[in-house]
Amino acid sequence: MVSLNDSVSALSGVGPKRVTALKELAIENINDLLTYFPFRYEDLQAKDPSELTDQAKVTLKGTVAAEPVVTRFGRKKSRLNFQLLLDDHQIIPVTFFNQPWLRDQMEVGHDLVVYGRFDAKRQSLSGMKLLSSANGAMGSIYPANKEIRQATIKKLVVAAYDAYAPTIVDLIPEPVRVKYRLLHRQQMIHDMHFPADAVAAKAARRTAKFEEFFLFELRLQIMKQQDHTLYGQELTYDLAQLRAFITSLPYELTGAQKKVVNEICFDLKRPVHMNRLLQGDVGSGKTVVAAIAMYAAMTAGVQTVLMAPTEILAEQHANNLARLFADFPVNVALLTGATKPAARKVLLPQIANGEVNLIVGTHALIQPDVHYRHLGLAVIDEQHRFGVNQRQALRQKGAQPDILAMTATPIPRTLAITAYGEMDVSIINELPAGRQPIKTTWIRSNQEANMLQEVKTQLAAGSQAYVVTPLIEESEAVDMKNAQAIYQRFQAEFEPTYRVGLLHGRMKNDEKNAIMAAFKANEFQVLVATTVIEVGVDVPNATLMLIYDADHFGLAQLHQLRGRVGRGQKASQCILVADPKNQLAIERMTTMTTTTDGFVLSQRDLELRGPGDVLGRKQSGVPDFKVGDPVADINVLSVAQQVAKVVVTEPNWAEQPANLAVAAFLTTTAHQPTTMD
Ligand code: ADP
Ligand code: MG
Repeated sequence: MVSLNDSVSALSGVGPKRVTALKELAIENINDLLTYFPFRYEDLQAKDPSELTDQAKVTLKGTVAAEPVVTRFGRKKSRLNFQLLLDDHQIIPVTFFNQPWLRDQMEVGHDLVVYGRFDAKRQSLSGMKLLSSANGAMGSIYPANKEIRQATIKKLVVAAYDAYAPTIVDLIPEPVRVKYRLLHRQQMIHDMHFPADAVAAKAARRTAKFEEFFLFELRLQIMKQQDHTLYGQELTYDLAQLRAFITSLPYELTGAQKKVVNEICFDLKRPVHMNRLLQGDVGSGKTVVAAIAMYAAMTAGVQTVLMAPTEILAEQHANNLARLFADFPVNVALLTGATKPAARKVLLPQIANGEVNLIVGTHALIQPDVHYRHLGLAVIDEQHRFGVNQRQALRQKGAQPDILAMTATPIPRTLAITAYGEMDVSIINELPAGRQPIKTTWIRSNQEANMLQEVKTQLAAGSQAYVVTPLIEESEAVDMKNAQAIYQRFQAEFEPTYRVGLLHGRMKNDEKNAIMAAFKANEFQVLVATTVIEVGVDVPNATLMLIYDADHFGLAQLHQLRGRVGRGQKASQCILVADPKNQLAIERMTTMTTTTDGFVLSQRDLELRGPGDVLGRKQSGVPDFKVGDPVADINVLSVAQQVAKVVVTEPNWAEQPANLAVAAFLTTTAHQPTTMD
């Protein structure tokens, strides 16, 4: 029986060589080929030349009116002339230069579609390309490569459609298809490749996008369901002890913190695996939420870890947690790459036998020789700084601990659905009371003198300042200030009244930690730093953030940097120094001065710079879709997600008549890469 899963080699004319070439385009079976859609169409509708503008690139359709003539001059040059008779009986002279072989593709009286540049004065066309007129008035244009040409793809698609059309069944469940007024799959595939007109092409694309997103979401939801049930553990925590801890905190939790604590605790005690993303703007108080979750888990008798991307951050967390848990039965340990071998040798057995129950650290936590007694909950701070493999490695420690991943990079809806679709999301959308908003200004570098005056005023008032520079060494390629040079300038300007420190990524960890600790202790009043200070560092007395070459940062990153100030009671400000050259960069700077909402900023960043810049360079985790664009088509994506969720929660969903086809499709087709950890 023929099936869409048949290899493309089932088509005549597709031998081993073509199979390999098609594989390059990710086309292996008939379904791949039939969903290898054109990325645009050329409108081959006959145009009235009186409507055409001079020098416009146009497509004209007609018949060859008289015998084409090739005139040669010189060895390589030639001119091919013929008359094209349009449908409205006009005759347009067409000339192709240096393509004499096209002569063989023309016959008097036969249809021809010519693409070229129109000359209005002469009412003639300078031909650029001959197009096939096989498929209606819309010419499909496919992404092709050296091995496989347009024409070949077109031919194969036609052959595949002719042979397999009857086997194309609807994948979208009928009630959904009807509700959202989508096409039948066979019609969609037909109209994607051979649309009668632009309207048909658009309708087909709408259905194709929905189907693509729906299949993606369905796979995600199925995996999520399996993850929930396969690795579930019940952590029955002690509510009285948990309450006692929460009461001991020096402040009242915000409403948003209470809400997410409830969501997390509900997950902990359910017999399902937790895989939850905690989003909250910088300073929204995620750490204490993590502490509460970890304490809950510890009262249930399991170990917990908190993994942070940098040693500075890990150490800060360890200190904070040790303070918070001072009066509680919690043994906090710190394990990082900087942990001395002797200390490590003592610590590893304590981790293995459960003597310490809260381990804070960096990647050091997932090294192969680190064994846990019973790891029940793993918290990942600034989780977008970690790759999939590291998150996976953490899950492999112990019996699949519950995961609480935290991020201060607000995630636009698109990315939450695609890159983090397998996670449940909790959001802290409220800052603790009493925070002063951070005032942001943008200045050009010729206003630097005023700014230095401002720094002096702040320092005189007893505050501290961060000065951030993008690069550590002068680079010829990019004109950026150098941290070293700025450090020296600030020293000259402020010392000896104030002390200036320097922190950069090339320093040894010990050195970095010492400098950061000294800044925290107010031994330095000004800290010149590269972006190593970006994440999580907490110095409430720092109220001024100065960022040089601010236009070289993404909005999300600037927002992170800005979040380093405004952490105490004093009013804070952020000054961006930038001389942006283009409109887009100017727009980014003004956006920073007008918006403090991280979600708005990251959405702008996503639109301007793409997912990689919002989620960090390592990996954006957003899959490549063929037709859908998760940013532009966010509404279709959202609906597809909701629909998929509803479908998989139907009891025995895969056995329901409306879902049989898609269930079969998912089990027989190769899995598309998704971002599941
Ligand atoms: P982030 O979400 O950026 O990780 P932190 O957890 O570092 O934020 O919290 C920022 C600061 O706010 C910390 O100094 C913390 O002690 C304080 N904080 C957290 N929750 C509250 C609250 N409910 N009320 C007052 N201060 C709080
Ligand atoms: Mg934090």
